[in-house]
Amino acid sequence: TYVVTDACIRCKYMDCVEVCPVDCFYEGENMLVINPNECIDCGVCEPECPAEAILPDTESGQEKWLELNANFSAQWPNV
Ligand code: SF4
Repeated sequence: TYVVTDACIRCKYMDCVEVCPVDCFYEGENMLVINPNECIDCGVCEPECPAEAILPDTESGQEKWLELNANFSAQWPNV
């Protein structure tokens, strides 16, 4: 799965949302997150993000962002 990280905070260009084939982005007040249960790992959102905030969760140090994306996608509205 891919995860949205801190570079997204107060950015929200939404380019990623437009390209995601499975609509798995969720929107909070200050950032977006990806629902890891819905993401099909296609990778098309990663180069679309102008803030370079989207990374594969396999990169080291992404565990806390994976947890945050999972938790908030369950609470925030789908976009
Ligand atoms: Fe959506 Fe693909 Fe990005 Fe996952 S990797 S959030 S499925 S665009």
